[in-house]
Amino acid sequence: MTKAYDQFINLQKKLKEVSDLAGFSESFYNIIREPERIIEANIPVKMDDGTTKTFRAFRSAHSSALGPAKGGVRFDESVTYEEVKVLSTLMSLKVSLLGLPLGGGKGGIVVDPKKLSERELEALSRGFVRAINNYIGPRIDVPAPDVNTNAKIMGYFTDEYIALNGGKNDIATFTGKSTDMGGSLGRTEATGFGVYLTIKKYYEKIGKSLKGATFALQGFGNVGSYTAKYLVEDGAKLLAINSKDHNHPNSSYGVYDDKGLDIEKISEAKEKTGSELNIEGKKITDDEFFALDVDILIPAALENVIDETNAGNIKASLVVEAANGPVTEAGEAILNEKNIPLIPDILANSGGVLVSHYEWIQNISGSYWDEEEVRNKQEKDMGKAIEEVFATSEKYKVNYRQAAFILSLSRIEKALKLRGRI
Ligand code: GLU
Repeated sequence: MTKAYDQFINLQKKLKEVSDLAGFSESFYNIIREPERIIEANIPVKMDDGTTKTFRAFRSAHSSALGPAKGGVRFDESVTYEEVKVLSTLMSLKVSLLGLPLGGGKGGIVVDPKKLSERELEALSRGFVRAINNYIGPRIDVPAPDVNTNAKIMGYFTDEYIALNGGKNDIATFTGKSTDMGGSLGRTEATGFGVYLTIKKYYEKIGKSLKGATFALQGFGNVGSYTAKYLVEDGAKLLAINSKDHNHPNSSYGVYDDKGLDIEKISEAKEKTGSELNIEGKKITDDEFFALDVDILIPAALENVIDETNAGNIKASLVVEAANGPVTEAGEAILNEKNIPLIPDILANSGGVLVSHYEWIQNISGSYWDEEEVRNKQEKDMGKAIEEVFATSEKYKVNYRQAAFILSLSRIEKALKLRGRI
């Protein structure tokens, strides 16, 4: 069985466990255990060499109980049907945890976008919108960026959508757009800023300062790089990064420096050489990276990277899921045993979809906010969710993931009852 399949089964187990703990009915569990709708498509693209290739694609809308589906689209070779099911379910929990009037969605295309030319990438992006056109829209399902997708791709998506729908200028169908075409200020930094906020709040709670706190970061994409930036600005020290070696796919390693790595230099290396790992420092293996003696360990890349093979060696006193689903069920059981607190993905990385929601509001209202307004509102809205998770964890004597699940599920359950579905 694939890891994504296991992950889906484990997520269902977790949903059941939390439903039982909070006293929700079997009928409720029967609704939320599977997404409401999944589209599977094969998208043909005429390649530059004259051949035609087809790419498998998916879009899952997990729940419409609280509002239109919302969530990113990833372009990655590791995308599977089960993975989008897992990730769309997590999105339902994430938006509900923030108290947003949205449901969960996620999409993906099985592709390595680095192997496509610019023209092929645009054709694939437009083909994806053609495949899901009848199932998206500001009040139906609102896609956004995710792994390997960005504002540029959202531009292609939006343009194709408008062309397909008689020129109706519904730019609120997508978020994460460039600010030059209706995107929100603060959206690009939002996820990393939110990861930083959760860590800051946790440190406040335990009465510690972030000054001098050390951290290790896996992944230096949009989420990882901004997380590192805000943490370092607040006095924390980045001791190591770990990443795929983009110049040698299938291999990954880390770079460590006990004096602290320079974020500017990492960004520069990534821009100039294609790999953030081309910096000075000691080369370390993946296993050495996860076993580093740091205060905070932040997986900010893909799923299932902390599992039974490495969780036992973790020395960090806090694990923060900046990526979606980076810790497996078995990995989490080990962390629980070792009493290492974990800030779950649906809280830690919720800043992205939160500011996406602000973008959606701005597009629909036609009135735009300045950066300070976005930043202050994000701080306030995420601060509330973080406090609620801490309080629920104490009330039910459960870990932060279970607390976050209880809060999210209770809002979805209430809405389903009010709609007469259960
Ligand atoms: N892909 C991001 C996530 O996993 C953002 C989704 C969005 O903005 O809709 O939360």
